[in-house]
Amino acid sequence: MADEEPRFLEARQSICDYGRRLIEDELTTGTGGNLSVRLGEDRIAISPSGIPYEQMSASDVPVVTLDGTVVTGSGDPSSELPMHLAVYDDRPDVAGVVHTHSPYATTFASLAEPIPASHYLLAFAGTEVPVAEYETHATRDLGATVVEALGESSRAALMENHGVLTAADSLEFAYTVAQMVEFCARIHYQARAIGEPEILPADEIERVRGKLESYVE
Ligand code: 13P
Ligand code: ZN
Repeated sequence: MADEEPRFLEARQSICDYGRRLIEDELTTGTGGNLSVRLGEDRIAISPSGIPYEQMSASDVPVVTLDGTVVTGSGDPSSELPMHLAVYDDRPDVAGVVHTHSPYATTFASLAEPIPASHYLLAFAGTEVPVAEYETHATRDLGATVVEALGESSRAALMENHGVLTAADSLEFAYTVAQMVEFCARIHYQARAIGEPEILPADEIERVRGKLESYVE
């Protein structure tokens, strides 16, 4: 039975672990946000909808096929399943997705302003963090705007009037990108509050991106 495959149990446990970290690291509040991880060719594990992260256990975490059919897990899949599936479908390089309502990044999302590289660590995400046009939460249309904003290589997009989505080659890395986006959003907000931040040029961010990749792998 799929439930007993250690790979799946480990992945489902990691959804619980990173979910609790979302609260500890103040990247979301309550049951806001969601996370998922790709399992092989045709499945993902995704956080269950509406279960507080503190109470979530691995057996609650649904495993879902890429057409959205639940294979196992006692919880209902996150209401943002269509958005997660849209990202996996469009980006074969992606194996982990994190959605947060982290406050500084969401401030820029509510202004519909991309976050530029006023700090070099933005390179974890891309040359800037683009904005996905507003669509109602938990819809396929939201998935489509997020995919469009991410493009071929961005690891993060702001979701207008809503939050942030990060996507990377592992759940761990997608989580790190979510932390970096929030840090850079905060620095940019603070810098803007007392002056006009200098923005790093795209070619420097590309250079930094190469260095960071060898640093995290
Ligand atoms: P879920 O609890 O259904 O994952 O929804 C949280 C959320 O952030 C919706 O955008
Ligand atoms: Zn949300």
